[in-house]
Amino acid sequence: MVTAGRIGGENYLRAATARLCRRIPARDHGPVTETRSSVPTAADRTAADRAAADRTADREPPPWSFLMDMDGVLVHEEHIIPGADEFIAELTSRRANFVVVTNNPIYTRRDLRARLLATGLDIPEDRIWTSALATAKFLHSQRPGGSAFVIGEVGLTTAMHEAGYVLTDRNPDYVVLGETRTYSFEAITTAIRLIEAGARFVATNPDPTGPSRAGLLPAAGAVAALIEKATGKKPYFVGKPNPLMMRSALRAMGAHSESTLMIGDRMDTDVIAGLEAGLATILVLTGISTLASVEQYPFRPSLVINSIADLIGRTDNPLGG
Ligand SMILES: [Mg+2]
Repeated sequence: MVTAGRIGGENYLRAATARLCRRIPARDHGPVTETRSSVPTAADRTAADRAAADRTADREPPPWSFLMDMDGVLVHEEHIIPGADEFIAELTSRRANFVVVTNNPIYTRRDLRARLLATGLDIPEDRIWTSALATAKFLHSQRPGGSAFVIGEVGLTTAMHEAGYVLTDRNPDYVVLGETRTYSFEAITTAIRLIEAGARFVATNPDPTGPSRAGLLPAAGAVAALIEKATGKKPYFVGKPNPLMMRSALRAMGAHSESTLMIGDRMDTDVIAGLEAGLATILVLTGISTLASVEQYPFRPSLVINSIADLIGRTDNPLGG
């Protein structure tokens, strides 16, 4: 069995990449079912497998810690992805260290816990990490007790207050752009003038759009582009794919990069951020990135699986080997 305790970070990643290369031939994208031969889905596993998983459920915690994206991995909007509840239940029963990481800065941890609970996922507040929390933590480390003009919702303003920041439109140290469903031209104008006057420009996440039931919504990245065009100043984005987001989550969960996995549905945010933070990475095909798209990137995840359900019963050794 391969564990981070036995193999160092660089060697480990090389070994993990080699395993992926075996699973997905470099020049043959192949059907999704190709990954199934070596990574059985929940449906493929037998009752005996499940019984074995149950027997091990109360043993030692897995050697791996888990970071995972929310949308496209555990849920689609307000609907749970099949198996996500069983996967979380297994991590919980095995006392595994895990944190759900989201670029969405709109909600507080308490709000997100309630939203997840409504889908059927029971995840404690302290196992949720958002780009709003990462941004507030970053600003606190850079300039403790500073001030900021904030465009965003309660998830961001609460995090900023809790980090000891004063929210003001009078000569702030920073303009912090998050997300809101009610962008105001007046607030954007104020942000532009403050940046022109010398405030530093920080944004929670670079996503150009976000999902909603009615269709795409403009997100922080799109509004940041508007402000950048007007001021000529680029924002510093804290959320994925900035590995800072992963490092702050690791610190919040007290985990080490060498023994932590990032599970995500996007090559261009989750996998690259995990990779650059020194984590092993697992791509699930229940969200944005497809198996064929993996080959278009100059980097690869450690493993590609159909869905989070494929990890049920495998949390002690998710990469196999
Ligand atoms: Mg996602």
